[in-house]
Amino acid sequence: MPQDSSMLDGTIASIDGAVRSLGLEDDMRSVLVEPWREIQVGLPVRMDDGNVRVFRGYRSQHNAARGPYKGGIRYHPNADLDHTRALGMLMTWKTALADVPFGGAKGGVSVDPRELSTSELNRLTRRYTMSMHHVLGVNRDIPAPDLGTSAQTMAWIMDAYGSIHGHTPGIVTGKPIELGGSLGRAEAPGRGAAVVGCRAVVDSGSTPDQSTVAVQGFGAVGAAAAQTMFDNGAKVIAVSDVDGAIINTNGLDIPALQEIAKNGGKVSDFDDADALDNDALLALDCDVLIPAAIEDVITAQNATDVRAKIIVEGANRPVTSAADDILVEGGVTIVPDILANAGGVVASYFEWAQNIQVFNWELERVNLELDKKMNEAYDVTKTQADRNGGSLRKAAFDVAVSRVSETIKIRSYVG
Ligand code: NAD
Repeated sequence: MPQDSSMLDGTIASIDGAVRSLGLEDDMRSVLVEPWREIQVGLPVRMDDGNVRVFRGYRSQHNAARGPYKGGIRYHPNADLDHTRALGMLMTWKTALADVPFGGAKGGVSVDPRELSTSELNRLTRRYTMSMHHVLGVNRDIPAPDLGTSAQTMAWIMDAYGSIHGHTPGIVTGKPIELGGSLGRAEAPGRGAAVVGCRAVVDSGSTPDQSTVAVQGFGAVGAAAAQTMFDNGAKVIAVSDVDGAIINTNGLDIPALQEIAKNGGKVSDFDDADALDNDALLALDCDVLIPAAIEDVITAQNATDVRAKIIVEGANRPVTSAADDILVEGGVTIVPDILANAGGVVASYFEWAQNIQVFNWELERVNLELDKKMNEAYDVTKTQADRNGGSLRKAAFDVAVSRVSETIKIRSYVG
């Protein structure tokens, strides 16, 4: 049985595949694989009880050939440099494939945010910003929320950054609407995943309204993906969150579930459904499976249990490289993360552009432009896959690596 590799090794393997099929030189490979700048900092924070705890913070700025570095900041106990680096690389390929004028980066703090009070999180975030502000900037590096961080975290970063550099809404995306956040930004990664998911359904010879869907994770990405699939007529039969899963083969009432989630409830609080084991959701007989929670949920161990025809990677790297090989070999279509959840960074681009122009778009415009970008990214990926006879993941990396390497050449970046 193939072995599951780390996220970093899996990402580098995808780059190597593209380097080979594009016929790029070893020198270019080195430039593409190496992060351009990395920072690791100690973050001393006074806790509410008066003691000081020192947290470790990271920012991996992978590549800025196509524009300022762009990527979220994750607060998670497992955040470390390797993991942050892998996620930063994914951002470079995501922004290139979506054709938005950014590079790729990621940040992280090794912390369980649930163990900290709001004021402790506020102090930690300001300390992180003060340690990093010299490498951030509207035309330099623009953070966003990720796991464990939120619009509130972005508001603290904007405030701390502004205390040195002056009022700068464009320094972060995914911030509250009141501070210059964009309408539709929170729903964009899930909506985008559903848009490309529906394209894959049509390419498989079916239609969304004939399809059944299971969604793992009912947070920002999962709930919006479920809602958009529901709005397109699909029957969403199962959803889960960290506390459990539910199923109704007649289709779940997604708007009602959204109400429960918005009021802090769990999906298992919903009455009109049966309880389901969390792992069993991944093995359900359905047309489309959308893992939209965390990474490494479909591995070499459980890949053969998957019965869905199409997997849409709402989360980052939910399918390991070894599982990907097994599934693609078995005829499953995988819409890869750098395509499927690119709606987040596309809407971040819209937010950044609105901030620079000091002009707010209406929701209809955001969604229209988002759908256009997602369809274009799907088209270019599918065309490449059809031309080369490979998977959508292989094709997506080919397109992204080709765009980034071309820009590096035109800039004459190598000294
Ligand atoms: P979130 O915190 O809003 O939601 C995560 C959801 O997953 C929650 O419902 C949680 O209960 C659930 N969950 C966690 N562990 C689970 C498990 N083991 N089984 C089932 N459910 C579980 O996070 P999010 O913003 O929706 O992000 C989800 C994923 O999408 C992450 O991988 C993130 O990196 C990726 N992503 C997010 C964005 C964004 O802008 N929000 C953009 C691109 C990619």
